[in-house]
Amino acid sequence: MSDLDHPQYDAIVIGAGVAGIYQLYKLLELGLDATVLETGSGPGGTWYWNRYPGARFDSESYTYGYSFSKELLEEWEWSEHFAGQPETLRYLNHVVDKFDLRQHMQFDCQVNAASYDEHNNLWRLTLDDGRELTTRYLLAAMGMLSAATMPKIEGIDDFQGGSWHTYHWPHEPVELAGQRVAVIGTGATGVQVISEIADQVGELTVFQRRPNWCAPLHNGPIDPIDQAQIKASYDEIFDICRRTPGGFLHGPDPRKFHEVSEAERLELWERLYEARGFSVWMSNFVDVGIRPEANASYSAFIADKIRQRVHDADTAELLIPKDHGFGTRRVPLETRYYEAYNRDNVHLVDLNATPIERITQNGIQTTAREYQFDIIIYATGFDAITGAFDRIDFRGVGGAALRDQWKDGPNTFLGMQTSGFPNLLMLSGPLGGSVSTNYPRGIETAVDWISELLAYMRANGHERVEPLPSAEAEWLQRVDEMYSFQLASKVKSWFTGYNSNVEGRDRIRTLIWPGGAPRYREHLERVASNGYEGFALS
Ligand code: NAP
Repeated sequence: MSDLDHPQYDAIVIGAGVAGIYQLYKLLELGLDATVLETGSGPGGTWYWNRYPGARFDSESYTYGYSFSKELLEEWEWSEHFAGQPETLRYLNHVVDKFDLRQHMQFDCQVNAASYDEHNNLWRLTLDDGRELTTRYLLAAMGMLSAATMPKIEGIDDFQGGSWHTYHWPHEPVELAGQRVAVIGTGATGVQVISEIADQVGELTVFQRRPNWCAPLHNGPIDPIDQAQIKASYDEIFDICRRTPGGFLHGPDPRKFHEVSEAERLELWERLYEARGFSVWMSNFVDVGIRPEANASYSAFIADKIRQRVHDADTAELLIPKDHGFGTRRVPLETRYYEAYNRDNVHLVDLNATPIERITQNGIQTTAREYQFDIIIYATGFDAITGAFDRIDFRGVGGAALRDQWKDGPNTFLGMQTSGFPNLLMLSGPLGGSVSTNYPRGIETAVDWISELLAYMRANGHERVEPLPSAEAEWLQRVDEMYSFQLASKVKSWFTGYNSNVEGRDRIRTLIWPGGAPRYREHLERVASNGYEGFALS
């Protein structure tokens, strides 16, 4: 067999983020010859790129770290309940060095295309530096929120000041003091930026299209007593994360909204509003995400909180979502976000009343006036989950393009594979469980499952795996049906593949596994224990 016919690697992983790092660790453990290809100049993925002011977890730090090494858990000390980006990036670099993974990683290289060679059962990758690499297994670990999208607004290149998408925030410090700054976008990212810089900049103008329901993060330092307690209870922490739908420390209250009196409801809701992290979203009555009247009642409760926190009544009303209920889009957690709007130097522009017409040399022109800025920050989000796949020209059996296959919505089995693309394994694939949970918890599940699949294939002499179209169709139907009961399935958000800045993403489609992590794991375990039922192995 010539070199071109025989793969150079057993496995190539695209992406050195949370998923790619752990996947590489497991591939090496299996004794496979593996490498990671990463566009950035170092590992870290989302935490390498998102260096914008205020970037931090909404997951408790100690639920975000990897659980696979007791030694790692014992030696790493998180400084805050919700660590900031620099600390998380240090953590991921520490993991890479501790397990000697860096020598298997290649940085500053972008995969432009990947095509499956059916004759030789291998993948051929074309990189932007002109290289062609071949591999038997291709593991897509590009991340679920890594295809950043700029708004489709005229004149973006005309602006003479500094302007960045938050994902591409400069590595060098950006001078904000005294500057006139614009932020476009009020998702979880925009909310963090706004809260962080409101008291640092000269003037801050927020351009808001749709407000989100935000709630307090309640971050704080981890004192030595808490630190010891956390380290002593990692087994319990991960056990709780395994049992909750979101993979967090926060599970639902088993009671239904109508089963309790109004006084009891308010008592729970006040407690949730004061509780740390995603309790406010995930520890509510089980039916708040399903029953419109329950959701409306909770939304009204949160709306009152916003009114209490924002002094100007008109501004408060603009900040209260009217088009969707609480928790039907990803809830941004915040630290003094609403209070930022009480500052004299912070201004809110409602883009529904006065849309942006264009970016000018000096700032932003809306239908009402031109605003002058030194800096424009685009917190305009991502082409979620499938966007990272679309940016690589994946070609499967017979040269079929993945972009075409997923044009009207993605099809996968378990979020792990899509038919016609053998040996392409997806760590955060559409319709999978890792994209709807506390990410590292979901990723550990996906990586462990894929690694066991590869071990099984080796033990049984298989070198090709692909899902059956029938299993895929059934999976999509299951996901669709399950999601249709949830109010979130009707709302335009990245959960439902909505992005106004990308062609074809202006409608709602199912992108995530909506059934919670424990049930997802049950499916994975059942499929594996039935000899990978639903997959064709050869
Ligand atoms: P996002 O939630 O999609 O928000 C993008 C924002 O930009 C929205 O407010 C959107 O308005 C606005 N926008 C987009 N195009 C626009 C245009 N042309 N004109 C005006 N406004 C425009 O994106 P994100 O805030 O980056 O967050 C994405 C996800 O990343 C989060 O949901 C979360 O999962 C993750 N994240 C996590 C953390 C954390 O762990 N703490 C922090 C940040 C992000 P519309 O709503 O009207 O479309």
